[in-house]
Amino acid sequence: MSHETINTREGLSLLKFKGAFDCLRHGFSLRHGGVSRPPYDTLNTGFHVGDEPAAVVENRRRLALALGYQDVDVIAGQQVHGSVVAVVDGTMRGRGACSDKTALPATDGLVCCEPGVVLMCHAADCTILFFYDAVQRIIGLAHAGWRGAVAGIGLAMIDAMKELGSKPENIHAALAPTIGPCCYRVGEDLAEQVPVRWRDRVLFGKLNQIYFDLPKLQHLLLSEAGIRDDKIIKSNFCTCCSGDKFFSHRGSGGHTGRMAAIISL
Ligand SMILES: [Zn+2]
Repeated sequence: MSHETINTREGLSLLKFKGAFDCLRHGFSLRHGGVSRPPYDTLNTGFHVGDEPAAVVENRRRLALALGYQDVDVIAGQQVHGSVVAVVDGTMRGRGACSDKTALPATDGLVCCEPGVVLMCHAADCTILFFYDAVQRIIGLAHAGWRGAVAGIGLAMIDAMKELGSKPENIHAALAPTIGPCCYRVGEDLAEQVPVRWRDRVLFGKLNQIYFDLPKLQHLLLSEAGIRDDKIIKSNFCTCCSGDKFFSHRGSGGHTGRMAAIISL
């Protein structure tokens, strides 16, 4: 069953989740409809990848127009594949909106309960995790590649939401398009960092190589942290298989743009 839809608005294609997230302003951008040149073509939303800053600003302006929010309401972190989560509010609006320099330092997760604040994260193969507690009206967004997942960013997000009053069983989570087990060939050095209790469920051999199911690991970690299995949904897209739609770090050889995820109450 598909938990997502892709719609075109203002010339941009945006992926949205069905179900609990439907009532929120949220989305995950695809790579088309922007102004960046190769290898960032065309809707690169990351300032940190070597693209022209003016192109990123224009791409983000188009994304804001398509999703109906103001650029100045955005809050983003400087993502470092860590597990630091910031609880943010309206006084921090604009941090990371028009430059990576003003983004929250070394922050991969954002949690907020204030309407109108727009949380933003970026990825190209790493998993963006969306969170929503519909009872307490609390949202969260996290950048979680394998390093962040193993470092415990998912649990840190749920802990931050619990401190604001969330019960884990009321939290909905969604995994944005990420690199799938079809394409994520890894070395033994990475495989050894996966928690032992999950290795036989997320690592498997094929043609004498090791493949890693990153979205499965994310699901297992969120489930272990107390989110109900029926409240965790995941995109069916692999970013590497669908290079026509998404930026893929692996698929591009390391030089490419970033998709943006946004969520707002
Ligand atoms: Zn794939």
